Amino acid sequence: MTKNELEKYKTVLEAKRVELSYALRNREDIAIEKTPDALDEVQLAGERELAIRNLDRESNLLRQVRAALARIADGSYGVCMHCEEDISPKRLNAVPQTAFCIKCQEAVDRNEIESPETLDALLANAA
Ligand SMILES: [Zn+2]
Repeated sequence: MTKNELEKYKTVLEAKRVELSYALRNREDIAIEKTPDALDEVQLAGERELAIRNLDRESNLLRQVRAALARIADGSYGVCMHCEEDISPKRLNAVPQTAFCIKCQEAVDRNEIESPETLDALLANAA
């Protein structure tokens, strides 16, 4: 991968990181909102649950984006963390934070191989 390409992905990932950090801060506000009204309480509980699900998804994504930026810094970006093949530019353009080539990602999705990010998320949820 050329330096220019790397810079391009870095810019995209930095923007994602800022956006996600901002979104996560706002979600936390929603998640702790309280009301004395019982009816609102039920509705808010539903909204809280949704907010927490989004929070989970976004914090996982943020973790992946941070890990991708770390891989750019250490020079391992764009290489599949499982099979060590180059990840196709098409895939990196679509999912710049990915740590896997398409074949390995499919295996991760089927739980055939363990994703470090999945493992992280499991550990974070267990804590
Ligand atoms: Zn792979």
